[in-house]
Parts: sequence; C-alpha cells; structure tokens
Amino acid sequence: MAASRRRTSAEFQGNGSLMPPSANAIASPRGGGAPSREEHANGGGPALSSVLSATEVTGRRRPAGRMPLWRLGMFASLALNAAALALLLPRYIVSHPHHPGVVSLDQQHHACAPQPGTSGAAASAPSTGKPAVTSNSVIHLDHGDPTMFEAFWRETGDAAELVVPGWQTMSYFSDVSNVCWFMEPDFDQQVRRLHRTVGNAAVDGYHVLVGTGSTQLLMAALYALSPADAVQPTSVVSTAPYYSWYPAVTDFLRSGLFRWAGDASSFIGDAYIELVCSPNNPDGAIRDAVLGSGGSGKAVHDLAYYWPQYTPITRRADHDIMLFTMSKSTGHAGTRIGWALVKDREVARRMTKFVELNTVSVSKDSQLRAAKVLRAVSDGYDGGASASRHRLFDFGRRKMAERWRMLREAAAASGIFSLPEETSGRCNFANETAANNPAFAWLRCDREDVEDCAGFLRGHKIVTRSGNQFGAGPRYVRVSMLDRDDAYDIFIRRLASLK
Ligand code: PMP
Repeated sequence: MAASRRRTSAEFQGNGSLMPPSANAIASPRGGGAPSREEHANGGGPALSSVLSATEVTGRRRPAGRMPLWRLGMFASLALNAAALALLLPRYIVSHPHHPGVVSLDQQHHACAPQPGTSGAAASAPSTGKPAVTSNSVIHLDHGDPTMFEAFWRETGDAAELVVPGWQTMSYFSDVSNVCWFMEPDFDQQVRRLHRTVGNAAVDGYHVLVGTGSTQLLMAALYALSPADAVQPTSVVSTAPYYSWYPAVTDFLRSGLFRWAGDASSFIGDAYIELVCSPNNPDGAIRDAVLGSGGSGKAVHDLAYYWPQYTPITRRADHDIMLFTMSKSTGHAGTRIGWALVKDREVARRMTKFVELNTVSVSKDSQLRAAKVLRAVSDGYDGGASASRHRLFDFGRRKMAERWRMLREAAAASGIFSLPEETSGRCNFANETAANNPAFAWLRCDREDVEDCAGFLRGHKIVTRSGNQFGAGPRYVRVSMLDRDDAYDIFIRRLASLK
C-alpha cells in the first residue's frame, strides 16, 4: 500500500503536474513550485489517503483482515451519509439553484430516469438522451441538445464508427512533444483539416488544445488570461443578451482570479476579459468585441456556431483565442469534446495547465471518436472525385433553413410573437449567398398581458429558457432549434395555435 502510494506521487512529481520530465519543461506550473496534488486536494493539509490509513494514524499494526470498531463505525456513518445525500441532492439542486444560469438537467429532461429493461447485467443499448414525444408531451427546448443531427449520422454507415480494443488508450499521455500533451495527434490533424476545408478559422501558427467540451476550455481561458498577482479579480464581460452559462461558469467557484461583471456595453475599466460569441447564443447576431483591446483587456472568441449550417462563412477568423465544440459543429454533444485555437504559446501552456489541474487530461476514447467524426465530415467535401456522398453541412443548412421557414410561418400565424430579422451574406464555403439560420430562436412575446414569456409557454407545455438568464427581459425566451423532428413539429403546431 505504502509502496504503491509512493509510486503514484512520484508519477505526479510532487509539483501538481502529470507531465513526463521532457514535457514538463514546456508546461511547468505558472510561478512554479505548486503544491503537490494531494496538498491541493486537501487545502494544504494531509492527504485523505493518509488520514484513512490506520497504521499511520495509530502507529500500531493490527492483524490482517480485522477492522477496528472505530473504522467500522466511520464506514457505516459514511455509507448512511452517502445514502442520505443520494436521496436529498437531486431535490436540493432543483429547489436551490445557486445561480439563475445553473439549471439542473433534472429539471429539464427525464433523460436520466432509468428506462425499462436497462438495469440488468447484460449490456443494454446506449441511452438515446430524451424519451420519444407524443402530441401530449411537454416539449423541452430549453437546452441546445443537438439531436437534430442524429438523422444525418444514422445514414453514414460506418464512416464515423470506431472500435477501441481493450488494450488501447490506456496511458495518460498522447504526444509529450506538444504543449497540449494529452491531445491525440489524429484529433489535432482532423481539427486543422476541417478548418482548412470550411475556411472558418485560421490554423497555421495556432496551437490546438483539446478540452472536455468547450466549456472546460472557456474556464481554462479565464484562468490563463487572469493575472495571478492582480489585486482585484479580473472582470469578465459579454454584451447582452449573452450566453446564460457565461455568468454561471465564471462565478460558480467564486474564484479570486476573475468574476462576472455583466454587460460589456456598459462596462467601465481596463482590466477585463470580453467573451465574444459569434454567431451569438441566444440571438444569432454576428458580433465583434465591443471593448478595445488596449490596456490589459483581452477577448475570447466563442465560435461554437460559426459553421455553414448556421451562418454564411464570410471570413477566416483569426482571433487570439477561438473556441469550438463538437456539440454544435457535428452534433456530438455527448462525446464532450471541444477545442481551442490559441495564438500565444504561453497562453496555450496555461490553458493546458488548467485542464491538467481540473481533469488531468481529456478522454482519449472521446478524442479518437471525435477525430473519426471530423474525418467523416471533411471526407464529404475535400476528397475530390472520391468525396463521400454524406455532406454534413448540406444536411444542416437544408434542415435549419426549413425549420426557420416553419418557425417564421408559425409566429406569423399566431400573431403574438416576433423574431430577429433574417439576415444573409456571401458564404465563401458554399460559394453562394446564404441566410443566417441560428441554432436558437430568440422569441419575443408581444402580447401586452404576457410579461413572462417562458411561463406563458410552459403553460402550453413548451419549456424554453427565459430572457432573464441572458441579461435581457422576461418577454424574451430562447428556444432550441436543434431538437429531433418529432419534438420540433409539435412545438411549431403549438406555437402557431397560440393567440
Ligand atoms: N459556447 C456556446 C456559445 C454554447 O452554446 C455552448 C453549448 N451550449 C458551449 C460553448 C459549450 O459547449 P460544450 O458542449 O462543448 O461544452
């Protein structure tokens, strides 16, 4: 036990890093001399494993296989506490969200409820996310769950299929010569290839970093851009209406490094990080930073929706930090893979350090799957005569255009809703003029007596996210446009009937 514990801490090198010696020179912790991993976990106190070791606590040996009474009691009490927690936690989360932006998934879907026949020992089919809907169901369009894309991937046969033998992906490490030492080389290559094919972002001269969703990389960017020695936490801002998770993610750990400071357009000061989402979640607007980049201000560009199915690709973006995600590009939200394109090596190193301290690395199995999926997308376009006939962006554009047409007709038929005006531009990827078809509808209820649009729609079994959570008023709601056809069709019929 003691020997294996010693081996583990040697692996972690006592500086909080899981890097092998060669790569550690590249990615040493900022300021160096970080406390060991166990000290970190215990706020500088003794590690939990040593607190639990009876030999170390009492200094006496006891016969193997016998457990002292105090320890039995402790386990019993732990087990009771865990059981009570398991019972109470879901209720607590539902009734005490820490922040208006943090909404438990439990509240939104029944996705986690056990499905009949899934508890046996035999392998069961993977979950499908949300249960099928009927014309009486509550329709949940609160999350941007991208199940719309399932129809495309069902048609691609084995193009995006992956088998991982039991012995593979076992090491922590992927490429120790890379700043992002846990990134699979094939993932890196496929990310660069897809951006070159689509022309939506520059990759030459950029570091690619992989994260557990782009949510993790957003946090990594906040960490990397906040000076550790600042007297005040750095202000994090974004123009309203802003993505509701920006304030939630910024503040949930009450960091001393950064804190949410609200709407960028009313911000005064010069130490800030501006989050620029374009096309914007929730309203689909094409955005630039509103604060100058002088002084100590920095920008992070969240380009989750800068793909041809949502918007014309008008230019090759080349910002300092750009974030992308599988969730919205290919629809693989459950794979939990996002990536960042980062110009500056030191920023890339610090962002990698954040991921390392947060989750050590990023699932290799997921990275390999993501690489296979991205490869299948590029194969649809850049293979010349041998290009695959499965073209994700063609499917996505067709689908989104059709859904937006249906939505505008439904809003007109109802007469009580308004939507942002349709815009279009020259798409360099499609080589034609294309409309902006955002992944969310930013819907306003114009009926005088309806002040709470989300509440009004909930009364008609349509669950949306209130404008309140985006720094806008409650007359607005955000509606996901990315659900499955059956749910979307029911939503459209219900909306059209509201007067
Ligand atoms: N940025 C924006 C603007 C998003 O809408 C989302 C997903 N809702 C994310 C980031 C996070 O994506 P991921 O699933 O990769 O964490």
